[in-house]
Amino acid sequence: DAPKSTNFIHQIIEQDLQQNLNDGKVVTRFPPEPNGYLHIGHAKSICLNFGTALKYGGECNLRFDDTNPEKESQEYIDSIIRDVRWLGFEWAGEVKYTSDYFQQLYDWAVHLIKEGKAYVDHLNAAEMREYRGSLTEAGRNSPYRDRSVDENLSFFEQMKKGELEEGTCSLRLKIDMASPNINLRDPVIYRIRHAHHHQTGNDWCIYPSYDFAHGQSDALEGITHSICTLEFEDHRPLYDWLIENLPVPVVPRQYEFARLNLNYTITSKRKLKQLVDEKHVTNWDDPRMPTISGLRRRGYTPAAIRQFCDMIGVTRSNGTVDMAMLESAIRDDLDANAPRAMCVTRPLKVTLVNYEEGKEEWFELPAHPKDESMGARSVSFGRNLLIEQEDFEEVAPRKWKRLAAGEAVRLRGAYVIRCEEVIKNAEGEIIELKCSYDPATKGANPEGYKANGVIHWVNADRSVPCEVRLYDRLFTEANPEADKDKSFLDFMNPESLVVLADARAEPGLKDQAAETNYQFERLGYFVVDPDSTEEKMVFNRTVTLRDSWAK
Ligand code: ATP
Ligand code: MG
Ligand code: MG
Repeated sequence: DAPKSTNFIHQIIEQDLQQNLNDGKVVTRFPPEPNGYLHIGHAKSICLNFGTALKYGGECNLRFDDTNPEKESQEYIDSIIRDVRWLGFEWAGEVKYTSDYFQQLYDWAVHLIKEGKAYVDHLNAAEMREYRGSLTEAGRNSPYRDRSVDENLSFFEQMKKGELEEGTCSLRLKIDMASPNINLRDPVIYRIRHAHHHQTGNDWCIYPSYDFAHGQSDALEGITHSICTLEFEDHRPLYDWLIENLPVPVVPRQYEFARLNLNYTITSKRKLKQLVDEKHVTNWDDPRMPTISGLRRRGYTPAAIRQFCDMIGVTRSNGTVDMAMLESAIRDDLDANAPRAMCVTRPLKVTLVNYEEGKEEWFELPAHPKDESMGARSVSFGRNLLIEQEDFEEVAPRKWKRLAAGEAVRLRGAYVIRCEEVIKNAEGEIIELKCSYDPATKGANPEGYKANGVIHWVNADRSVPCEVRLYDRLFTEANPEADKDKSFLDFMNPESLVVLADARAEPGLKDQAAETNYQFERLGYFVVDPDSTEEKMVFNRTVTLRDSWAK
């Protein structure tokens, strides 16, 4: 027997399959509204819906839940399609749209009117709110609730024909204004919106509500398990009411799971859109954004994101996941799979006084210390080198494993050098080190020889100019939305981006394609950014080598 899944949705499906429900078919859907880019929370839903279909030999649809035309756009549709594919999933058949079903949904609304289960209400929004009551107080019937079927049909027809202004009236279900569940107090299922729709153009000026559209679209597509987040738990009775009261072809069931919240960031499309619109970030794909496209540009791989979604699991209890978990998923992936390279981010000039002028040597270094199959790389060595400013102190602190005046250090994969002289400018800043190298130390220490530590370096005369963008968390507070008197914008990390414009990388990094990942030795994991040009490579820091936020 296979071990029982810890994913409660999978447990439900396994029970359903045992009873041969839906003839043993599993059909899910991922239903984004195209009103923004996908974020890491959506990745959880994508992995769950597509992953479930894969696991049980079923199918998963991609359906755009496009019932709010004013907020939606083709740009968002395109980005969502790109992101789902990039994550490694493929949907069944064509991309689907709720708007494909507008005619059928309209016909079903007419059906409900004819059955006396829906009516056109002329209460305005404020009145409707007042009539709806509250958690502690039953609602009251609208004075328009008992209109005749003919009157309702004629008003609904006028709504559809565009003869009425927005807000004049709406179509409501006739369920129960005293229900303890407010979602059942005659919910609105159609509103007038004189809006152009990205798919249906000007065909419609009435649009169905989420609740009216969602379950019926599920039924039309033969969805068996309609998985959504916990906010919709209270909508489930309405979902089921509609399925029971309409002549739908199949009976889908709704199941809810806890949405993903991640600390040090936000997972609300509305707030992410605000960051973009107000230019707090460069765009939706800014490497600091928790969007799929932002994570992609940051250097995350689809495998790491899927691994993260696997690690966090699927439950019904809301909580917040530590950003360190996401970071550890990408670190594990890149540790195993990213080739190593040397890059000096804040260069300090080193001249080897006893190394022949104009001479150049090439050293072969492994691309990966633990994986020979990744092959070797060639790094150039010469008289003029660059090392990290941080790797030199005039007077060595205790246990210093780097270079100091009069001391020696190994250059990774090359020779041991000794600092003979420190050159300073008029302001007293160190601008150059005159060093000697020991030809007997090439690649390895001779017997009995002990160098103090190993640092990275590049050949100043044959290295690749690059800009290194050091990205960090977007917010300084674990929960930037916690303080009700402040905006999440008040907690933005002013150091979420530090640009080092004069970095130099080893020769092999020239002209590498965007999204190529590296470990820059001793510095962290970096990725080629699409802003790279022939003159200057641009690298984004994906994540540091170790978790620097851990307390
Ligand atoms: P937002 O609040 O960010 O706008 P949404 O739920 O309105 O999110 P949709 O486009 O409707 O966004 O989401 C598509 C699917 O992704 C839905 O089934 C939704 O439940 C799921 N989803 C959205 N955010 C999360 C999240 N943080 N964790 C898990 N699933 C999510
Ligand atoms: Mg939604
Ligand atoms: Mg939303």
